Amino acid sequence: MSSGQLIVLTGPSGVGKGTLVRSLLARHNDFYLSISVTTRLPRRGEVDGKDYHFITSSQFKEMINQGKLLEWAKYADNCYGTPRFDIEEKIKLGTKVLLEIDVVGARKIKQTFPYALGIFILPPSLEELERRLIKRGKDSQEAITYRMELAKEELTASGEFNYTLINDDPNQTLQKFESLILAV
Ligand code: 5GP
Repeated sequence: MSSGQLIVLTGPSGVGKGTLVRSLLARHNDFYLSISVTTRLPRRGEVDGKDYHFITSSQFKEMINQGKLLEWAKYADNCYGTPRFDIEEKIKLGTKVLLEIDVVGARKIKQTFPYALGIFILPPSLEELERRLIKRGKDSQEAITYRMELAKEELTASGEFNYTLINDDPNQTLQKFESLILAV
C-alpha cells in the first residue's frame, strides 16, 4: 500500500469530520468512504447502509470473532467498527479509501498500516466544540456532557497523527484537507 491510499480522519465527535468528508466526496468521486458498523441506534434521518450499517451487539461480537473488522472501538457505550472486506478489496483495486473514525480506532489503523495518512481535526476551542454538539441537535444533554469528557482525552492524542487541522472555518478546512490528501 502506498502512502495516501488509506486516509484516516479522526478527532472528537462534533468537530466536523463528517461534514468535511461529505464535502470532499461531493467534489471528488475517486475516493471511497468506508461505511462503519455500529451498535448505536440510528438518529433521526440516518439511513442504514449509508450513514452506518446498524447492527445488534451480538452481530457485532460475531464480526469480531470472525475477524471481519479491521479495527473497532467502544465509544460512549456503543461499538463502532470498520469492515475489513470493504477496505482490503478497494485498496487492492487501487482506490483511495477514507476512514472517519474515533481516536482509539485511528491509532489501531496506524499500527496495522503505518503508511496510512492520519489527519486529526481539532476544534478552535472546547467551548466551540460543545456549542457545535448542541447546535447539531442530535444528542441529549447527557450524551453531550459525556462526549465532551471523551473529547478532552482525545485531544491529547492529536500529536500522534501526520497532520492536524483546526476546523475554524469549514470552507478553509476543506481546502486544506483537500490539498493534503491530493498531495500524497
Ligand atoms: P457518532 O455516534 O457521532 O456517529 O460517532 C461517534 C464516534 O465514533 C465518532 O468520533 C466517529 O468518528 C466514530 N466512529 C464512526 N465509525 C467508526 C468506526 O468504524 N470505528 C471507530 N473506531 N470509530 C468510529
